[in-house]
Amino acid sequence: MKQRLTVLGSTGSIGTSTLDVVARHLDRFEVFALSAATQVNLMLAQCAQFKPRFAVMASAPHARLLADKIKANHLETIVLQSSDALELIASNDEVDTVMAAIVGSAGLAPCLAAAWAGKRLLLANKEALVVGGGVFLDAVREGAATLLPIDSEHSAIFQSLPENPATWTQRVEKIILTASGGPFRTRTPDSLRDVTPEQACAHPNWSMGRKISVDSATMMNKALEVIEARYLFGVAPSQLDVVIHPQSIIHSMVQYRDTSVVAQLGTPDMRVPIAYGLAWPERVESGASALNFHALSAMTFEAIDDHGHRDRFPGLQLAWDALAAPQGTTAVLNAANEVAVAAFLERRIRFDQIHHLNLATLEAVSPSNPDSLQALLALDAQARSVAEQAAGRLAA
Ligand code: NAD
Ligand code: MG
Repeated sequence: MKQRLTVLGSTGSIGTSTLDVVARHLDRFEVFALSAATQVNLMLAQCAQFKPRFAVMASAPHARLLADKIKANHLETIVLQSSDALELIASNDEVDTVMAAIVGSAGLAPCLAAAWAGKRLLLANKEALVVGGGVFLDAVREGAATLLPIDSEHSAIFQSLPENPATWTQRVEKIILTASGGPFRTRTPDSLRDVTPEQACAHPNWSMGRKISVDSATMMNKALEVIEARYLFGVAPSQLDVVIHPQSIIHSMVQYRDTSVVAQLGTPDMRVPIAYGLAWPERVESGASALNFHALSAMTFEAIDDHGHRDRFPGLQLAWDALAAPQGTTAVLNAANEVAVAAFLERRIRFDQIHHLNLATLEAVSPSNPDSLQALLALDAQARSVAEQAAGRLAA
């Protein structure tokens, strides 16, 4: 039997890499549904190649445009657009696996739908877990879903941990996430005031969507990943450490009680963790080129406490602060950061103001212990509105 797959966010960086891996293994995988926000032409090409039963677009005009093109090309894919269409394709009985590759909290509801429906859930959409927290984990447990990380660090950690999660807390001393340091690792903090969206999106090692590229430049990506690791692996926040490793070869590490360290290494190509998640517990060809240790000159590391990194990347600490604060604070932090990054990409605020906006929002919103999807979405909306007002004040 082939694994039937829904790809949420199929036109993005992770979505297209996922379909690249799937195309190498059509004997194993079959595409049931695809979804995208606005990219009609790429979605049409994906429908022609993978013949999904359903394609979901985020707005009615884009859905109509796609439906016309599907018809003109004599394809049989059914185009859907409604507020619950993503949940439908994520939880449909015929689906085995859901790749969550939408960016931001927009992916939360379909992730929860997939979890409650007991799917194998491949999570690239870290914001969904940062917002969903305990509600997300409860959904996975109640639905008996299989949650597998796609974020390269978390895939590396998962590959470095013992197979049985019941042994993790007893055996693990700490989890060390690596961070490349992004495009501004050697810049003086003052010079970051006036960087442009183009400079922030030019990552030295990875090619990614614009939102995560800006997050990598501020290190908010690593803050979100620390929170993600806390929820995925159940270790205490004090057991989570970050080290800068500019070459992005070691994707993260687990240090055990006896000080032994187990790491996962590879070229920086997201098809590796994607292929791992798709085939787990088996291994399949990913399309990535292998590491060549004979040509590898150096692997270096920098402590966060050195080289002025704390001043350069003030947002990183917010992960531990939010995890120590009342439940729901990680959702407020995520909402603030989504608004701040969008405002920066639209040139409404400066790069260094992203952190100010996050702080201002955290100060202004007291989270109300969200215990359901509705409560999470309400908190997300409230924090966004506060962050938008703060962005307006900064831009004025
Ligand atoms: P991207 O911007 O390239 O793609 C996002 C996809 O989601 C697109 O298909 C877009 O059409 C869709 N989308 C965006 N907003 C939507 C909305 N409101 N409703 C429905 N669909 C929407 O982003 P990406 O770089 O592929 O990242 C996707 C997720 O994976 C993010 O959460 C990111 O943090 C995570 N991730 C990405 C990488 C990477 O290398 N790109 C690595 C690790 C984790
Ligand atoms: Mg990552």
